[in-house]
Amino acid sequence: MTLIVQKYGGTSVGTPERIGAVADRVIDYCRRGHQVVVVVSAMSGETDRLLGLAQQITESPDLREQDMLLATGEQVTIALLTMALQQRGQAARSYTGPQVPIRTDSAYGKARIEAIDPDRVRADLATGHVVVVAGFQGVDDQGHITTLGRGGSDTTAVALATVLQADECQIFTDVDGVYTTDPRVVSDARRLARITFEEMLEMASLGSKVLQIRAVEFAGKYNIPLRVLSSFTEGEGTLITYEENTMEHALVTGIAFNRDETQLTILGVEDRPGVASAILGPIAEANIDVDMIVQNSGHDGTTDFTFTVQRNDYKAALEIVQDIGARLGAREVKSDNKIVKISLVGVGMRTHAGIASRMFATLAQEGINIRMISTSEIKISVVVDQKYLELGVRALHEAFGLEQEAA
Ligand code: ASP
Ligand code: MG
Repeated sequence: MTLIVQKYGGTSVGTPERIGAVADRVIDYCRRGHQVVVVVSAMSGETDRLLGLAQQITESPDLREQDMLLATGEQVTIALLTMALQQRGQAARSYTGPQVPIRTDSAYGKARIEAIDPDRVRADLATGHVVVVAGFQGVDDQGHITTLGRGGSDTTAVALATVLQADECQIFTDVDGVYTTDPRVVSDARRLARITFEEMLEMASLGSKVLQIRAVEFAGKYNIPLRVLSSFTEGEGTLITYEENTMEHALVTGIAFNRDETQLTILGVEDRPGVASAILGPIAEANIDVDMIVQNSGHDGTTDFTFTVQRNDYKAALEIVQDIGARLGAREVKSDNKIVKISLVGVGMRTHAGIASRMFATLAQEGINIRMISTSEIKISVVVDQKYLELGVRALHEAFGLEQEAA
């Protein structure tokens, strides 16, 4: 008998009808001989609604009380789903995070799971129950309720799968898997049958927001096979594992892009030790994350320095850079908030040369100017003008044959 942990997100449990459909699906898995632990999110929109209520009381709610409030969202869905299972004749029992217990640190609003006692869940499974657990919440060592941060139910599911040594952790959502790129940009984007943890982390950190990044990291660390599936359609979804599919010889697995980028450049600063740190030090002190960094090789004793930051840090970063530019006697400070980053991702890059040059040639053919480039072992990223996002992604998707099933 296999043990599966399934997680259903907010839209999958958004109405009583949908909760009923989830119950049917869970029972279907039980009939096929699996033991099932179900983790649920709050009904869609509920966490935002609760946050809104708190804001009507005070602009800065006490974080302990905010977690107390937010934890109610998931408590509603565990009870409703358990009732739906029972009503269909399936033995089932629900638990809040603290009841399991799922033990966390005390960082309200972004708590980290420290330990889970699996005994209670195991005992219920052994007596033929489906166990329904509230996602996103836990309890600290003082008995205070905590929450794990937005999207945290994914992490609850993976953590439970880890301690229960589940055979698979299935994340049911409103898309039917991980795609070669965003289907809203490329209509013939293809669902990937499988992807490695490393690739998934790159895709996720670049904006393919199918899964919470922390959950992917967690599953990778403990080697729990993760599967992303739709709760609205049938299908195999996408399996995320360490195994690279030896049948597939794809050079590139997917194309990720990120609209959340802006670029800052300081031109003509003195080329001497300490300049990079003089520029990036104050940026780091202002708690601004820097993504890409490029420094031109110096000429005439001066150099140019360019880096990118997220859009909501743009204004603050620009002010800092203008200030530094003046102090360092820079020739000019330039900035652009209409840029995007496009990245090719794939473990196939480790063993295949020439992918970068094919990428650059493809963009050149479309008349797209590359403003910055960065590479890692399984990723090549370029920064281009935002108006070229769709054109660039489509051209690359075609150039690397991503719409076709790899042979
Ligand atoms: N309900 C929480 C949220 O909206 C947790 C989750 O959905 O995973 O962030
Ligand atoms: Mg959610």
